[in-house]
Amino acid sequence: MSALLDVSGVTLRYKTPSVLVTATDRVSFQVNQSDRFVLLGPSGCGKSTLLKAVGGYLHPSEGKIRIKGREVTEPGADRMMVFQEFDQLLPWKTVLENVMFPLLVARKLPRKEAEDRAKAYIEKVNLTRAINSYPHTLSGGMKQRVAIARGMAMEPDILLMDEPFAALDALTRRTCQDELLQLWEDTKFTVLFVTHSIAEAIKIGNRILLLSPHPGRVKAEVNDVDRVSPTDGSAGQLEKHIHELLFAEEGAH
Ligand code: ADP
Ligand code: MG
Repeated sequence: MSALLDVSGVTLRYKTPSVLVTATDRVSFQVNQSDRFVLLGPSGCGKSTLLKAVGGYLHPSEGKIRIKGREVTEPGADRMMVFQEFDQLLPWKTVLENVMFPLLVARKLPRKEAEDRAKAYIEKVNLTRAINSYPHTLSGGMKQRVAIARGMAMEPDILLMDEPFAALDALTRRTCQDELLQLWEDTKFTVLFVTHSIAEAIKIGNRILLLSPHPGRVKAEVNDVDRVSPTDGSAGQLEKHIHELLFAEEGAH
């Protein structure tokens, strides 16, 4: 079976007036249908840069990114992004209008169809009661749920999530993580999820790619995350193991 997303030897660089910054160095990984694939690494290791490249917003200096065998050259409705920031919604549109907007503009659905689909996804993220509210009246967690509903309503090949819960308080973060997993149980969508938190990576992912600090290189891939349980101590063991894999080299210096 060929992978849904194939990232092969991807080096990403930023040209600034004074220096050339290498954000990632020959990173390779493959995401299969229905994977909850997590990119894990410390701040500055190039996670957001990689995600933007998969989104088609940045172009690799070396290597290739393919979705279903087609090379990614520009953004597309087959890859929807959810960001960390709470300001990703259009402030002058209601929850319903925010979720409908890409369905009308990018998918070109008839208004009735777009509205029905938007309502169904808003229901899935438990926001029906806020459907006519404007973003400034919502909590951070509610805004992130709207962004998730908007991305999922497009039914993309892959949902790209860049630390969507990192700026939430701990309790809300846990609720949002649980809801995301429940949504995944319902629809088995494919998600590429970025985080710097080992615990979040283990909770969300079935597979985790560990990246080294700047520039990001693949350190290891952990593929049996679903086998650990939060109750029998195996999640704690995996967390320790991943911590060692991530920081072994630094500790040796
Ligand atoms: P992460 O998301 O893992 O924290 P980023 O992908 O944001 O990391 O950044 C990776 C590296 O690229 C960092 O060293 C960062 O300073 C650099 N970088 C990110 N964006 C830019 C930019 N627009 N111009 C120059 N350097 C950048
Ligand atoms: Mg980032």
